[in-house]
Amino acid sequence: MPCHGLHAIPSGPVEFSDIATTYVICGEKLNVMIDAGVSNSIADFSFLDRLDIVILTHIHIDHIGLLPEIIQTYKPKVLVKSGFKKYLTTDEGVKKLNESAEKVLGDLYYIYGEFRKIDESKVFEINGGEELDLGGNNLKILYTPGHAKHHVSVLVDDFLFTGDSAGAYFNGSVIPTTPPVINYEEYIKSLKMQISLKPRIVGLAHGGLVSPSVMEDHLKQMLSGEVNINIDLGGIAGEILKKQVEVNLRGLMEAIKNKDKK
Ligand SMILES: [Zn+2]
Repeated sequence: MPCHGLHAIPSGPVEFSDIATTYVICGEKLNVMIDAGVSNSIADFSFLDRLDIVILTHIHIDHIGLLPEIIQTYKPKVLVKSGFKKYLTTDEGVKKLNESAEKVLGDLYYIYGEFRKIDESKVFEINGGEELDLGGNNLKILYTPGHAKHHVSVLVDDFLFTGDSAGAYFNGSVIPTTPPVINYEEYIKSLKMQISLKPRIVGLAHGGLVSPSVMEDHLKQMLSGEVNINIDLGGIAGEILKKQVEVNLRGLMEAIKNKDKK
């Protein structure tokens, strides 16, 4: 049976699949995937008979890990922010990408798994502003820097897929998606722009489909710098989330310190 409509697929590491979500939207004309999980994932895409396009919200390792397998199986086009293709397709670029991931993530880098180079003929660069008619659904790419210079979000009708530009959400807590090094001013600007779109549903890369009020709660915590996260999922998942939250809060505190210095 052909794929139809929206799918949210857990694509985190084996130990905690739900820490990352990959979205697939199947239209009448095109099937599109947003982000591609971690390498060490057991994400199941077997429902997909065809995949035309993968849009990368950005090129952090927890959003691109499954690309080699996905390309091998479905041969989709991969869309990435202009200027950053080389980090996916050249030996030197891939090495840099993995090294910087290891530096920022520490142990988590090994839990998520290294990124392996993909074929450059499959990768196309975008700037934001591009639109695609999926057949029954309109998709628009939005440039949303701050979390990273190479960050885009994806609006499909009134569903907004924010990647890591609008926070994460686990067990009722909004978690800043702010690993080092973020651009605080750009992050706030991108977040406010996305709130102004008034989406009906927000698809987070970490935390799944949520109410748009999560973005407003996230803006409040970003502006006040008051972030109290008290979640213990228990077990290995709890350990992984704790490590990721530590990385994000470290980035946020650094960004706030630098902002006050200016
Ligand atoms: Zn990221």
